[in-house]
Amino acid sequence: MTSILTSHDAGEATTAKPRLVVVGNGMAGVRAIEEILSRNGRKLFDITVFGDEPYGNYNRILLSNVLAGSEDTGEIFLNPLDWYADNEIDLRAGARVVRIDRFARLVQADDGTSIRYDQLILATGSRSFFPPMDGMWADDRTLTSGVFGFRSLDDCTAMIDYAADKTKAVVIGGGLLGLEAARGLQNRGLTVDVVHSPATLMNAQLDEAAGAIVRRSVENIGITVHTGQSTKRVLTQGGSVAGVAFADGTTVECDMLVVSAGIRPNVGLALRAGLTVERAIVVDDHMRSVDDDDIYVVGECAQHRGQVYGLVAPLWDQAKVLADHLTGTDRRAAYHGSRMATKLKVAGVDVAAMGLKAPEHPDDEFVQFAEPKHGIYKTIVVRDGKLVGATLVGDVRKVAFLMQAFDRGLPLPEERISLMFDIGTPDVEVGVAELAADTQVCNCNGVSKSALVACVNGGQKTVPGVMTATRAGKGCGSCKTLVAQIVEWAAGGVVEDDPSASWYVPGIPYEKPELMRLIRELQLHSVSSVFAALAPDGREDANSKMGLASLLQMMWTHEFVDERDARFVNDRVHANIQRDGTFSVVPQMKGGVTDSAQLRKIADVADKYAIPLIKLTGGQRIDLLGVRKEDLPAVWADLDMPSGFAYSKSFRTVKTCVGSDFCRYGVGDSTSLGIAIEQRFQGIPGPAKMKLAVTGCPRNCAEALCKDLGVVAVDGGCWEIYVGGAAGAHIRKGDLLATVDSPELVVQLTGRFLQYYRENANWLERTYTWVPRVGIDTIRAVVVEDRDGDGARLDAEMHKAVDAYRDPWKDREKPATPGQFRSALPLAVLPQVPIR
Ligand SMILES: Cc1cc2nc3c(=O)[nH]c(=O)nc-3n(C[C@H](O)[C@H](O)[C@H](O)COP(=O)(O)OP(=O)(O)OC[C@H]3O[C@@H](n4cnc5c(N)ncnc54)[C@H](O)[C@@H]3O)c2cc1C
Ligand code: SF4
Repeated sequence: MTSILTSHDAGEATTAKPRLVVVGNGMAGVRAIEEILSRNGRKLFDITVFGDEPYGNYNRILLSNVLAGSEDTGEIFLNPLDWYADNEIDLRAGARVVRIDRFARLVQADDGTSIRYDQLILATGSRSFFPPMDGMWADDRTLTSGVFGFRSLDDCTAMIDYAADKTKAVVIGGGLLGLEAARGLQNRGLTVDVVHSPATLMNAQLDEAAGAIVRRSVENIGITVHTGQSTKRVLTQGGSVAGVAFADGTTVECDMLVVSAGIRPNVGLALRAGLTVERAIVVDDHMRSVDDDDIYVVGECAQHRGQVYGLVAPLWDQAKVLADHLTGTDRRAAYHGSRMATKLKVAGVDVAAMGLKAPEHPDDEFVQFAEPKHGIYKTIVVRDGKLVGATLVGDVRKVAFLMQAFDRGLPLPEERISLMFDIGTPDVEVGVAELAADTQVCNCNGVSKSALVACVNGGQKTVPGVMTATRAGKGCGSCKTLVAQIVEWAAGGVVEDDPSASWYVPGIPYEKPELMRLIRELQLHSVSSVFAALAPDGREDANSKMGLASLLQMMWTHEFVDERDARFVNDRVHANIQRDGTFSVVPQMKGGVTDSAQLRKIADVADKYAIPLIKLTGGQRIDLLGVRKEDLPAVWADLDMPSGFAYSKSFRTVKTCVGSDFCRYGVGDSTSLGIAIEQRFQGIPGPAKMKLAVTGCPRNCAEALCKDLGVVAVDGGCWEIYVGGAAGAHIRKGDLLATVDSPELVVQLTGRFLQYYRENANWLERTYTWVPRVGIDTIRAVVVEDRDGDGARLDAEMHKAVDAYRDPWKDREKPATPGQFRSALPLAVLPQVPIR
């Protein structure tokens, strides 16, 4: 190692430490410094870091979460500026190194400074690749207004700002990053089309079958996908992006374009310094440039044995080897390459992929399971008894063990199928106790088992607490189960409950009753005011918005301030989004009763708007499927019927049988009572959807026993009321709440029960979970017997909600936002929802 002698004061010479200069203040550069510091680096070197981004060091992976609104920019910083100062690191943030003089051992930055180095680390990472096409650039250096790459914090915040008043985005690139960008923009209220030139989404990780299922899941969440389409031109209008044109001449309009078509390592600096560069800067097994023993290279700008990595896990390994070698801790430390595993960070589209997607050798074992109808696809590739590849789509429950088996070559169970499913075979998973201390548990943030254990020993006894302190599980999330198991093990079984499990929504630290009390006390009428007053640091959390909006609407009715960004697309346009981006429209048909005039109107509307499918629903209504977004207001106007609320977390239908009017067995007028109930409670919002039924005798033709609330006419002019039933994904027979002797009492108890449920259930908790959780005896005591003297108040609150009913389809007269009913339709033909 070289030492230099500098002269600070005339006549006084001091022996200085060698100077280590790092170019690149990103994930790899700083991780390398952290590893060096942990090997006594502060005593060994004077360290200077150049970073052309004007910030401290942040976790680039989490930019996807920032764009999606689930994380705040402040939360993604890995090392605050104090950290550099505390470690005596000279940080030159916002300074770009423009030249390396290897002979003079100098680096020069664009702020005019230059500095001598003894050892140099290049960690310059990558930049977004913009395929050459007309219209992409305004000039040599500036992208056309509305065009973005997705790489840096500046890219991310610029996108968020720009998206604020935009309605339609196109994302070029259907790889991991493109899909994450698309979901992020959709969360911000934009309609999004993804354009991908290969035939398969995420083709780097997935085969055709898996790609097709992912495509369907992506379309299911309302994103339009164009595969096999390459963009030839960016269309502009008045200097801003206006759309994209495909090779086949078709176009898609948009007012924002994100390009996620791959990355290119930043190698210009190294090239100009005369280092060997192929796809990236070529390094040896010690992570040194092959041309210069004093220049190390780490991260995405390094090419090792022909391989360039675009993920974080390899850089943790590389940084360790680099630090061992540079500090002399282990001069023989060698990097042998990394295995690649990824998980898509898009809520609702579960995909994890590692290693090979298909067998490559004749002896490779290949286990494959496909259930396309349910969106599930799994493959496993085993070589010499070791896992060398796995793809999980739709069900990623086994990902934690598979990642460990893949990373560490764990022995596999003889019954390979148990790698995909829990089928009651003996547990082969290595217990957390047997995992080596240095096992990397969280690949995204490079957190080892020993770091987790140290955190628990340091006093953190809750799983989220350990995750926050170590950042484990804060990347793609696939290691969360393992992290939880390690925390439990390290805490010797005394792991404390996660208080957030009982919060009403994840972003506000209160249980529902306390939250409601505070909202009332502080008079908070909008979602944003709740965040400002009650969220930690006033931070908004995208995942909490819908739940809060529902709660506020329930509590304030008329005084609720409705902010559109707190709504899911279905609630923004009052219709149900379908697989192909069209919508389904279900008009109200109280008690399942209609007449010839309504039927005629529905038929006329279906003809006029070329509605491809008319279907009777399970709730006795007529569903018009395949309506284009821009036609919605006109369809509602022509129908001139109220919304049936088939899309929202609210009161839906009352199914009825024909009852005593026509049926030979009927003992009660179920149809009239069903209509009366539907008329009264139409559209009231709740924690989840509420489906009801009234049936005219115990033969139960309207299936009232498996509804959120079901009413059965019995002999003697009486009615039985059942609550908490279900016949969907869960099957449950409702519990008998009461038997009453008049339809008026049925209506009153229905209202009181629904109000009690609305006030007390968790967000998205259906009655079939809530009723057994609270207990039918308690519910009966409150709702029927008025044990707490709260009955009159519950009645009054429900009355207020009923009075606040307003048909949302009246929105057609005055769209809430310019893009509310603007076309979401792709101009290219998509696979349509099947029409028979
Ligand atoms: C939105 C997004 C999501 C991602 N999600 C995942 C994921 O889920 N899983 C995963 O494994 N990976 C993910 N990645 C990839 C991961 O972030 C990168 O692999 C990782 O950041 C690479 O680290 P690096 O230090 O090599 O490069 P970077 O983190 O890019 O750091 C390089 C730094 O060097 C600076 N620099 C470049 N040239 C100079 C110069 N001449 N002078 C001064 N400074 C310079 C750059 O501005 C940058 O700050 C994601 C990336 C993005 C953008
Ligand atoms: S539930 Fe009873 S009243 Fe209603 S249709 Fe069936 S048999 Fe007739």
